[in-house]
Amino acid sequence: MAPDNRELLHALSFDIEDWFHIVEVKAVEDPAQWPRLSAESSLVERYTDLILRLCDEGKAKATFFILGWIAERHPALVKRIADAGHEIGTHSFWHRKVYELTPEEFSRDIAHSLAAIRAGAGREVPIEGFRAPSFSITPGTEWAFDVLLDLGLTYDASLFPASRGHGGYACARGPHVLRTPKGRTLPELPMSVAPIGMGPLRKTMCYSGGGYLRLLPPSLIEQGVASESRAGRSTVVYLHPRDFAPDGPRVRMPPHRYFKCYVGVAGTEDKLRRLLRNHRWGPCREVLDPWIRSGDRPGGVLSEPIQ
Ligand SMILES: [Zn+2]
Repeated sequence: MAPDNRELLHALSFDIEDWFHIVEVKAVEDPAQWPRLSAESSLVERYTDLILRLCDEGKAKATFFILGWIAERHPALVKRIADAGHEIGTHSFWHRKVYELTPEEFSRDIAHSLAAIRAGAGREVPIEGFRAPSFSITPGTEWAFDVLLDLGLTYDASLFPASRGHGGYACARGPHVLRTPKGRTLPELPMSVAPIGMGPLRKTMCYSGGGYLRLLPPSLIEQGVASESRAGRSTVVYLHPRDFAPDGPRVRMPPHRYFKCYVGVAGTEDKLRRLLRNHRWGPCREVLDPWIRSGDRPGGVLSEPIQ
């Protein structure tokens, strides 16, 4: 299968953080430990460079949602990403879940991240998009959309339209425009979900990012891409540098989380290569362009039940 020029443009995105930025794992949750863990065993540069090579090989541009904390410590990495012509977005500064913050704390955190990423790039780079740590914009935290607009961002990629451990938001599937609590509009690129599997095992779930992509065989990932494409919806891939790192440090955590954090890491590189070969990929900003241009015509609904 080779990509065909008429095929939908799908969104390729990476959340740039280190192996110890896993949420709710006691051993690594204290940011005071991060400098030591980073000095001992950081993998963010090595595996982001691998991601840059894979994008190059696949002739695809992507969005890199960079954690401000990483930009501050690895400015040369931010420069390499920007110099390679990829889109840069923010993944916050401290990797805290949005629903645990007040609007003021969230605003300070995002402003801090924007300053750190711009300083890292060493020049003016457009930063238009945000992805929340753990897709943590949940019902009740819609104020975050207004904070993003107030800080000059133009789109969000934080909603996850299925229930999950740390997030979940019953939004429309696929790119859409939502209305914020202050009555403004914001283009949204939610994570992709699709019915995966056959018969009684068929389930609407994420198939194209993180642990889901690592766990599912390529045939089921393709089933998800095909099913969403038939409905005219682009697939969104999201991966982290640690998703490619079979040699990454392992932290102790409950068995079900351990499985989800580390299953299939050795196969991620091949799965991404295959997706890049089979389909057309671009940065989130480009996939959302028609919705960004449509501006004031909100097409999103925020009240569908979570499936
Ligand atoms: Zn993250």
